[in-house]
Amino acid sequence: MPQLRQDPTTKEWVIIAAERSKRPHELKRIEPSIEKPPYKKDCPFCPGNEYLTPHETLAYRSSGPADSKGWWVRVVPNKFPALSPEGSLERKEEKGFFRMMDGVGIHEVVIGSPIHNQLFPLMDDKQVEEVLLAYRERYLAIREDPRIKLIIIFKNHGQAAGTSLEHTHSQLVGTAVVPSNIRKKLEEAARYYDDHGRCVYCDSIQEELTFGKRIVMNNEKFVVLQPFASRRPFETWIIPKDHQASFGLISMDDSKTFARVLKETLLKLHSKLNDPPYNYVIHTAPIKDEWEDYYHWHLQIIPRLTTAAGFEMGSGIFINVAFPEETAQFLRQE
Ligand SMILES: [Zn+2]
Ligand SMILES: [Zn+2]
Repeated sequence: MPQLRQDPTTKEWVIIAAERSKRPHELKRIEPSIEKPPYKKDCPFCPGNEYLTPHETLAYRSSGPADSKGWWVRVVPNKFPALSPEGSLERKEEKGFFRMMDGVGIHEVVIGSPIHNQLFPLMDDKQVEEVLLAYRERYLAIREDPRIKLIIIFKNHGQAAGTSLEHTHSQLVGTAVVPSNIRKKLEEAARYYDDHGRCVYCDSIQEELTFGKRIVMNNEKFVVLQPFASRRPFETWIIPKDHQASFGLISMDDSKTFARVLKETLLKLHSKLNDPPYNYVIHTAPIKDEWEDYYHWHLQIIPRLTTAAGFEMGSGIFINVAFPEETAQFLRQE
């Protein structure tokens, strides 16, 4: 019998298709990994090619001028941005019915390592910490722009996850609007808070820790779990245990712990599933809601092991072919 499961944080339904269900090991990526070089002379993210990118907005290097070699993390504006920093927030009407405005926003790329073929989960702890500190530093800088309402930090790994450049990188996008699907997530969290006087994410953590079977990892500061209503096989969330609405409020110390937890989680997925393509996204409150009680920031990792098709597009209901209880156990095994 298939199961319909509802995500308490969004009220979205998913189908766990028991009949077509796959054992966790059957979802392992089978294509062999293609060996990539540590340096590529035409790669805009490789050291020595700094002139191929727009001027950096942040870099960690011990000495030397901006846009020169010697960095270990470098942040640059996206050369082909989805949104541009110029423009106004004024709404323009077209024929009185359709609404439009300038595509104002900030779109930056965080180059996570000077080594072209460095995989994120195989970096040393210190390097991952530095990447996370760069996220934090750029978040805090971008939030100062009064036009920016929300900052989304994400990483795409592998072609199936939408990467166009193989050199390890992640992205930050600051938007001048709060998109409707994010607004829905915020509204559901606010509704839960109104009904219960508690945060739905804090309550989810408690429920999941009590149940235990969907927990991948757990330490003093963070819990890693595969949610009850996982949309895709091996969907994994990292949630801070202390209530905090915005990633922008994370302390330096917690940011380092978060880096190690993220790395360890990605390493488990990497080794158990043979370097699967994945996306991760940090979901955080809009800037004006950073201190609210109802929302709770978290990171979602979605491995791209299956493809969404017409039914998902038509209904918004994802069909997941694996049980999170089984995939979480599979990841926990040494
Ligand atoms: Zn490169
Ligand atoms: Zn909370």
